[in-house]
Amino acid sequence: MTVGVCKFCGQEKELIASHIIPKVLYQLEKYGSVVDVDVKNTRIKKDPKHQNGVKEALLCKECDTALGYFDGYINKVLNIEVPKIDKNKTFYDTPCICLPADKYNLDRLRRFFISLLWRSSICSRPISLGKYQDIALKILKNEIPDNTDLFLPLIYRRVGRGHVNNMTGIFGTKYLGKRAFIFRFPGYEVMII
Ligand SMILES: [Zn+2]
Repeated sequence: MTVGVCKFCGQEKELIASHIIPKVLYQLEKYGSVVDVDVKNTRIKKDPKHQNGVKEALLCKECDTALGYFDGYINKVLNIEVPKIDKNKTFYDTPCICLPADKYNLDRLRRFFISLLWRSSICSRPISLGKYQDIALKILKNEIPDNTDLFLPLIYRRVGRGHVNNMTGIFGTKYLGKRAFIFRFPGYEVMII
């Protein structure tokens, strides 16, 4: 049992091992075992601890459950519903799918990406969110109103095949001079600006 300060509620509690990236998005039953790509040491290794997806003891059970509310929904929408919807819009001449706000809980979808970035910024191999780390936490805790000018997710469905398509991870980048992160998992690439 690990006791420590929960990164979300700030209370000293029993911490549970929780996923940084939701397990369901790895699609383990389809793609099999997880290998870690260590870019620094140019190595690929198979860590037995990661075969269920990467987990770390960062949150108490209550907070993990609260954030898990967003995780299940992303899978339902992107992996189950979107593949059944025909393209219904064009965006700069590219056919795309627009999810109507009266049918989908877009706030719940959006908060998933904020939660994902925040969790990725507090793990043992963190991405750096700078001042946005605290803003993300406060939005998730409803301490400040959401600001849709921040954490803008652009979701691309990947139709190609091959190993690269199965890669799961988060990578820093820049987009139009703004800080951005690419979040990849099987079937999708999401740029969060
Ligand atoms: Zn907590």
